[in-house]
Amino acid sequence: MSDRIFLSAPHMSGNEQKYINHAFETNWIAPLGPNVNAFEEELASYASTHGAAALSSGTAAIHLALDLLGVGKGDTVFCSSLTFIASANPIVYLGAEPVFIDSEPETWNMSPVALENAFRDAEAVGELPKAIVIVNLYGQSAKMDELIDICDRYGVPVVEDAAESLGSTYKGRKSGTFGKFGVYSFNGNKIITTSGGGMLVSNDTDELKRARFLATQARDQAKHYQHSLVGYNYRMSNILAGVGRAQLEVLDQRVEAKRIVFDRYVEGLGDIEGLEFMPELEGTMSNRWLSVMTLDPERIKITPYELIDALEAENIEARPVWKPLHMQPVFEGQKFYPHAEYAVSEQLFATGVCLPSGTAMTIEEQQKVINLVRSILTKSKVELTK
Ligand SMILES: *Cc1c(COP(=O)(O)O)cnc(C)c1O
Repeated sequence: MSDRIFLSAPHMSGNEQKYINHAFETNWIAPLGPNVNAFEEELASYASTHGAAALSSGTAAIHLALDLLGVGKGDTVFCSSLTFIASANPIVYLGAEPVFIDSEPETWNMSPVALENAFRDAEAVGELPKAIVIVNLYGQSAKMDELIDICDRYGVPVVEDAAESLGSTYKGRKSGTFGKFGVYSFNGNKIITTSGGGMLVSNDTDELKRARFLATQARDQAKHYQHSLVGYNYRMSNILAGVGRAQLEVLDQRVEAKRIVFDRYVEGLGDIEGLEFMPELEGTMSNRWLSVMTLDPERIKITPYELIDALEAENIEARPVWKPLHMQPVFEGQKFYPHAEYAVSEQLFATGVCLPSGTAMTIEEQQKVINLVRSILTKSKVELTK
């Protein structure tokens, strides 16, 4: 296992223990505590939002955001299709229906064309969605100006799923700060991690207060345990918040390191005919959480799965691009709005490969990946299956 090259392994800074020790010394072994409060303040300051609420996961943050926006039974929520299922599951937890929106080719994120079409149809039947979940895939910001413009025109609030794009910017502003709510994740494979955790950010501090209330079982102010509402157990633990504080200190370094990893792939593989790397929209800066490329089947004989299997045989972890949610068995029959006559997300799924992108990966390890990918892609199919 030790010489395995992972897709995106956790990378500790060395300072985590200091904050954890402090939690132990003061016996703050609880959800809530000084690390939680400090982590919220430090992250809000980093993102330049008025506040933040530290939670047990990014999924919990999306769930609370949609709950706060009043999403419930009979409602619909528009959601990016090309994403991890956690973007959409909370819609279903609340008894609402997801409507999936395709990607566009310049960011791989929500297509403004498809979104406009979905809105037009919804308006025609008098059933506007209750909220929109916009995802920033692999660190790349969606076309926020265009998308927010459309959502504002219809008066529907946005939840920005920035689970993968912490540290990225869009026109100089931090990713995750464009909607009514923004969501970050600190899962083990994300750019910074608390092993598991999430953050809800917003400029509406009243709503954040309400998020913290709902996240602690909606406990009313009283000496006894009193509840007038059904809440959740969604707060972050004070120990994990300590890990998060130390990780946040090195976030910008991690972004830089991820971008260097990406650049090395481009340098080492960019000349291969039919191989293209994920674009970066002008005016945006991606944290390059994962280095992703596509293989043109007309010009490259090897499929993404064959490449991934061949790398696996060398103990290297690579993955396909997210399978679009409108193609998932669990969402069969849900509405989907494509970008054009064809679905961009389906094409990206069919051709995309995520390469190992860990910030602790050595240059030698990355060179090994580059050499292997090059030799595999330039082999013929017959040779590969031998
Ligand atoms: C990781 C991720 C989430 C969920 O975050 P968790 O902390 O794992 O619950 C949500 N959306 C996207 C796009 C993600 O990549």
